[in-house]
Amino acid sequence: MTKRLTGFQPTGNLHLGNLLGAMRPLVAGQESATETIAMIVDLHAMTMEHDPRALRARTLEAATLLLAAGVDPRRTALFAQSQVPEHTELHYLLECTTAYGEAARMIQFKEKSAAGGPVRLSLLTYPVLMAADILLYDAHEVPVGDDQNQHLELTRTIAERFNARYGETFVVPEGVRPESAARIMDLADPTRKMSKSSATAAGRIGLLDEPEVIRKKTSRAVTDTLGVVRYDPEGQPGVSNLLDILAECTGERPGAYPNYGTLKRDVTDAVDTLLAPIRKRHAELADDPGYVREILAEGKTRVRPAARATVRRARAALGLLD
Ligand code: ATP
Ligand code: MG
Repeated sequence: MTKRLTGFQPTGNLHLGNLLGAMRPLVAGQESATETIAMIVDLHAMTMEHDPRALRARTLEAATLLLAAGVDPRRTALFAQSQVPEHTELHYLLECTTAYGEAARMIQFKEKSAAGGPVRLSLLTYPVLMAADILLYDAHEVPVGDDQNQHLELTRTIAERFNARYGETFVVPEGVRPESAARIMDLADPTRKMSKSSATAAGRIGLLDEPEVIRKKTSRAVTDTLGVVRYDPEGQPGVSNLLDILAECTGERPGAYPNYGTLKRDVTDAVDTLLAPIRKRHAELADDPGYVREILAEGKTRVRPAARATVRRARAALGLLD
């Protein structure tokens, strides 16, 4: 049986890119016999300056949105990373088998550490914690967007080296790419991916954005001066992104459009049709936060034995006492 694991950072509001690139594939994967793990990676949200109250609220909100988008707690273990302390224990054990240079050359570390302000040590070691997240559950498949390729490669390197040096301990995971729409771009800057952590929300459609907000953001989406609706991600990244979003939301190939205005109108409608039921279900679930917490507690209880077993194997392999 194949185990699949997806993580969501509670660094901000989940957006359309998260939904199309990660949440929908996760929900679709539940249908098959695959065992699915959905994790809110709250410890990763502490690698940059953070506000404790916002972190707690966003963790619960992410869990609520995952449920609203169709995560079925009977099929998927849903929990917050910090609720399973084995993540941090394995993190340390893996740090002892990872070189400083391997972590320091990660592109994301270079970018984020160059942003200014004090650099937390956890920002450097973040990919090692991510390796622990994956290896802890013997995950076979990890859906990865382009932004996480390098980190998944490091995970594989760490696992292979550990197995070779200390004996077979970890399953070496494969990165899998969602078939389409691996990457939704920012509407205000279509050369960058839509991100929770981008400076402004202008180019990001939040999963809880009201229809009027969606319309505003879509109608202001940056395009170009060519005036032709053509799929050409290199030459017309803004228009191509809109076509991608439309295709993903409707499940159909977009037809021909005489101008950008009509395309934007259809994108607005398609996005709203997709988000309306999620918004509605989210409102129902948000009325009962106790329920969401219960689901998280159940998810934690379900995965913990596997996490414990992996840590036990790693400890023994490294020469630590019981
Ligand atoms: P951050 O800016 O804090 O890194 P993020 O928007 O990149 O946030 P993550 O929590 O890092 O979101 O990613 C959650 C999942 O969503 C991952 O599987 C990631 O590959 C996917 N994802 C993130 N952004 C996009 C996007 N723009 N298009 C498609 N998938 C995305
Ligand atoms: Mg990210």
